[in-house]
Amino acid sequence: MRADVAVAVIGAGQAGLACGYHLRRAGLDHLILDRHSSPGGAWQSTWPSLRLFSSSAHSSLPGWPMPSHPDAFPPVDHALSYLAAYERRYALPVERPVTVQDVHSGDECLDVVTDRGLLRARHVINATGTWSAPFVPQVEGARSFGGRQIHSAHYRGPEDFAGQRVAVVGGGNSGVQITADLVDHAAQVSLVSARRLRFLPDDVDGRHLFAQATARLTQPDEAEAAFVGNVVALPRVREARAKGALRLRAMFDRMTPTGAVIGRDHLDLDAVIWCTGFRPALRHLRSLGLRTSRGIPEVEGHRSVRDPRVSFIGYGDWTGPASATLIGVGRTAKALVGDLAGELRPRGASGS
Ligand code: FAD
Repeated sequence: MRADVAVAVIGAGQAGLACGYHLRRAGLDHLILDRHSSPGGAWQSTWPSLRLFSSSAHSSLPGWPMPSHPDAFPPVDHALSYLAAYERRYALPVERPVTVQDVHSGDECLDVVTDRGLLRARHVINATGTWSAPFVPQVEGARSFGGRQIHSAHYRGPEDFAGQRVAVVGGGNSGVQITADLVDHAAQVSLVSARRLRFLPDDVDGRHLFAQATARLTQPDEAEAAFVGNVVALPRVREARAKGALRLRAMFDRMTPTGAVIGRDHLDLDAVIWCTGFRPALRHLRSLGLRTSRGIPEVEGHRSVRDPRVSFIGYGDWTGPASATLIGVGRTAKALVGDLAGELRPRGASGS
């Protein structure tokens, strides 16, 4: 691996690739580092039956639309093939497998410490996603539970839960999709959430999530009033809802060795699947001390306030509206790279 670069992008998921696309157009020297040995970012780790919540046309990165798919909601394999082809199409300079272990502040550069040696960079774009940092809330008694507990990040399919009594915790898209997946396999599935389910109308797909996220940024008051929901009613989800399998139960008051207590009821359980979200995967930046008490770095635009040589993309709305979606990340990448270009482009060079 090279020893010096203008921009080191950490992560070659969709966010890293969208940055690569714009860095290439801007003529900025860059390298994209990824710890996976194959392309596709987090999509490689999802459960095989996962469906995108938008059509191909609305799941595209900058420059090249995702090829169409006969199903309205393409399977995860389709997203994987697209990301691999996207990387090849633009000959993006991805180095893998490379794990970034630490980033230190040097005098003029940032020292990116990897398991393949040291890389000195004038700017670091973090695009490490959230998948490697699953979040599970603290629930009284959780350690005493004798059954199985997994996070949705480790869910591989309903066969593992055949004949079992399962609680799926979380009323977002993952919780609802996994509950629907389990209906015909588990002996009993309970969908549990502290918040009520907010289905999008059946004829509205994930495109609307992008529109909502944009509106939250540009017209916060109107967006709040116009919010219709965040759970996409995919065909399999509708089927499960029609069977009554998505009737929501209130969140556990506490867990016991054999299940969970909700109000006056005891729910007997063999397994709990936590669909309770993720946190930004930023452990590799600990030496820079960028996180605030909120757990995320303070940013202005996309840059860290504490060290403006460090940018963030893809983790959630705090890095740009819908920046954690395929369709949304392109806009953030364009703005982020546009902001860097004037500062980092070699004198006399111009972007295309
Ligand atoms: P990732 O895809 O996670 O990529 C990050 C990359 O960084 C990984 O390849 C990882 O190996 C690498 N990395 C991490 N740490 C290091 C390190 N220290 N050193 C080197 N490399 C590192 N979005 C949609 O648009 N449509 C959908 O239908 C949709 N469905 C979703 C369903 C689920 C269940 C989930 C969880 C998310 C869904 N999303 C969807 C959201 C979104 O598309 C993903 O979360 C997306 O993977 C985020 O992309 P990313 O590039 O930011 O991160």
